[in-house]
Amino acid sequence: MSEPKNPPVDSVTEDLQEGSQSKKAAKKEAAKLEKQRRREQHASSASSALAGVSLDAPDPLAANYGDVPLEDLQSKAVTGRKWTEIGSLTEDLKDQSVLIRGRAHTIRAVSKKIAFLVVRERGFTVQCVLTAAADLVSGQMVKFATSLSKESFVDVEGIVSVPGVHIKSASQQVEVQVRKLYCVGKALPALPINIEDAGRSEIFIEKALQAGEQVVRVNQDTRLNFRVLDLRTPANQGIFRIQCQVENVFRQFLLSEGFVGIHTPKLIAGSSEGGSAVFKLDYKGQPACLAQSPQLHKQMAICGDFGRVFEIGPVFRAEDSYTHRHLCEFTGLDAEMEIKEHYSEVMDIVDRLFVAMFDHLNEKCQKELETIGNQYPFEPLKYLRKTLRLTFQEGVQMLKDAGVEVDPLGDLNTESERKLGQLVAEKYGTEFYILHRYPLAVRPFYTMPCFDDPAYSNSFDVFIRGEEIISGAQRVHIPEFLATRAEACGIEVKTISTYIDSFRYGAPPHGGFGVGLERVVMLFCALNNIRKTSLFPRDPLRITP
Ligand code: ATP
Repeated sequence: MSEPKNPPVDSVTEDLQEGSQSKKAAKKEAAKLEKQRRREQHASSASSALAGVSLDAPDPLAANYGDVPLEDLQSKAVTGRKWTEIGSLTEDLKDQSVLIRGRAHTIRAVSKKIAFLVVRERGFTVQCVLTAAADLVSGQMVKFATSLSKESFVDVEGIVSVPGVHIKSASQQVEVQVRKLYCVGKALPALPINIEDAGRSEIFIEKALQAGEQVVRVNQDTRLNFRVLDLRTPANQGIFRIQCQVENVFRQFLLSEGFVGIHTPKLIAGSSEGGSAVFKLDYKGQPACLAQSPQLHKQMAICGDFGRVFEIGPVFRAEDSYTHRHLCEFTGLDAEMEIKEHYSEVMDIVDRLFVAMFDHLNEKCQKELETIGNQYPFEPLKYLRKTLRLTFQEGVQMLKDAGVEVDPLGDLNTESERKLGQLVAEKYGTEFYILHRYPLAVRPFYTMPCFDDPAYSNSFDVFIRGEEIISGAQRVHIPEFLATRAEACGIEVKTISTYIDSFRYGAPPHGGFGVGLERVVMLFCALNNIRKTSLFPRDPLRITP
């Protein structure tokens, strides 16, 4: 049995980002009322279909459905029952009995005797059919199904059937003829975000708005306030699986290149490495802060003879940057390595690592990328087999030729970085490239100056679609020179004496780089805000949920 056509899509505007405060409030109120009206309408159509069926009347099949009592949810027994994942429900299982667990995605009463319950598990959905029939399914059981609140967790036992027509409302092309139905985790009847609204395609929304139709668009703050619900959308499921793969490839690639994974402390005495703002804290009476990067300790690990190290860990920046690409806490992917003669050895690693990473994502995560693209359409990243390297001076010249004046010994601002990204894409056909030999003045004190011109440094930044994802460099490993450079940059040497002393016991030439995990995912998928790629983002205005 296949479900009749879906009802029309919601038609309420809830874009709170536009208009004046009062307009916003009125819109919000109207949206609320409309939602309420729809809820009531839905509830009354469901209950009129089922009028006359009492949940309280004695039912000989009562043991086949209901809310599972708390006691039975307290790890009471190991039954060894076999569970089937919804994603693996296929025609091969026709006529077999299966047991599945998932969320009540949609619930629909067709008549007193028939109801459809679409159950969702990790992005896959299956249509479960309740048809009242003697000895199998009672009218009360159908009513119980339709009284379930959306997003509740249910266990369904039933027989797999193949309807022979395309099932629009579910990913799996089989149905489950329900025999038993239990609720193991109830959701509130009215949720603050409707998952369907939160997962709606941006293209669909734009088209509807252009056609003058009203459509629900859940704004960013609402999504983040109710992140647990927002995370359930297919796009978010894809984003965080991609994030996991970026981290995974980073680790696997560096392990295969002889790097050792390390963990440096996040509680730091004094004020970390100076520069950007730090979160200060009291460490048993001593002033301390949260590490703004693993920089100093990963270099100290090189002094400890690990040769090549990497770390995946949290990085804290108390920045007052209210931008689409800055967070107060993000995940740093860091690497540090001995070099034999040139900082290009570090850039070689970056080159091969990221080409391997992009290849992996394109080859192994097609489904996730497609799902993300369904909501937030994007073009695949253009990158070369051998990553383009330009010097800072060449970049400045390209900008100059395009009529953009920048300080040749200063840093590039966001706008010029974007412009350069555009110029590079046009000229070289890549949206991923390395810019190196930055002016020394704009790099941290531990950066090695160039041998041929001390105004420049052996450093580099890496860009995706015109935005920075990596900073790297050769570091100063000569302690006296390091102390001089720290002083020149206004850092009190005694505050970093343990770091500088590490080099006094003998240190190899070395370099490394730091990547922002959330930025890589954001830019690979051309998303417009880093908050979309942070599970529970922390920014200057947000420390919950
Ligand atoms: P930006 O110029 O974009 O502020 P930065 O030069 O301060 O970055 P680094 O200190 O070099 O960045 O950090 C290395 C990488 O860490 C960056 O290239 C970026 O990917 C990531 N990163 C830095 N700051 C943040 C932040 N506040 N939120 C998220 N990611 C960040």
